[in-house]
Amino acid sequence: MSEPLSYLGVPLARPKVGFFELSSCEGCQLQLLNNEATLLDFLNLVEIVNFREGMSERADTYDIAFVEGSVTRKDEIARLTEIRKNAKILVALGSCACFGGVNQLKNRFRDLDWVKKEVYGDFPIETMEVHPLKDFVQVDLEIFGCPIKKEEVERIVTDLVVGKAVHHPEYPVCMECKANENICLFELGEPCLGPVTRAGCDSWCTSNRRGCWGCRGPAEGANLKQLEEIMHTYGFSSETILDRLECFGGFASFADAVRSPSPNKKTTARRKKS
Ligand code: SF4
Ligand code: SF4
Ligand code: SF4
Repeated sequence: MSEPLSYLGVPLARPKVGFFELSSCEGCQLQLLNNEATLLDFLNLVEIVNFREGMSERADTYDIAFVEGSVTRKDEIARLTEIRKNAKILVALGSCACFGGVNQLKNRFRDLDWVKKEVYGDFPIETMEVHPLKDFVQVDLEIFGCPIKKEEVERIVTDLVVGKAVHHPEYPVCMECKANENICLFELGEPCLGPVTRAGCDSWCTSNRRGCWGCRGPAEGANLKQLEEIMHTYGFSSETILDRLECFGGFASFADAVRSPSPNKKTTARRKKS
């Protein structure tokens, strides 16, 4: 039998954990499986009892439920409610679960029947407006990102297991980008939401010469006016700003502000088929 888990000599509980997906690409769960270097340590820390992408066994008794994906069908509401009932802690895993993610782009269109026809042709499936998990159940913790950063999830799970409070960075991606000594992409002609987006990804995109699309949602005190000013100074339109702000759903209220400017301000924003 293996030694009981301990931390500084204090015995630790090994929580039962389940991973579940609603409407999603399952990329967040894949991130965890991809982490081969530390996967065994991670598995030692928790007892995984449900993880369709990684194992066949199933159990309905778990302490922590990680739920990936957004709610886009009525049957998913019932499934999510059941998962919530079984779990002591429910974690929204990834931008789809936290904000609706890329799925919520569908909500741009008022006419769902038109959307169904465009996407599924003569074979429509049941689908509804996209919602994040918190619209239907209590969410105890959110882990941001599209996809999530596996190192961050491991740190958060470790914090949960040892009973530490979980903290997300409040500062923006720009801080990490500068710490990584990157040339600002605005100087290279690329738009970027780094000034207003919550850090924690270690400036994943900008360190790879791709502007930030805001997948982790707004940083604390994010200054939209300042972002607009920077974007316009570097020659980017309101349309470009909106495309980025609308992409993952975390900036919905910011996008509304850009979409409905003062009556004197010209906007190029398209939206909503009527
Ligand atoms: S957040 Fe991104 S990677 Fe994760 S399930 Fe949604 S679309 Fe996939
Ligand atoms: S590239 Fe983006 S994240 Fe990096 S410093 Fe410039 S604006 Fe900030
Ligand atoms: S740089 Fe921006 S878009 Fe890329 S992972 Fe980080 S928060 Fe998400």
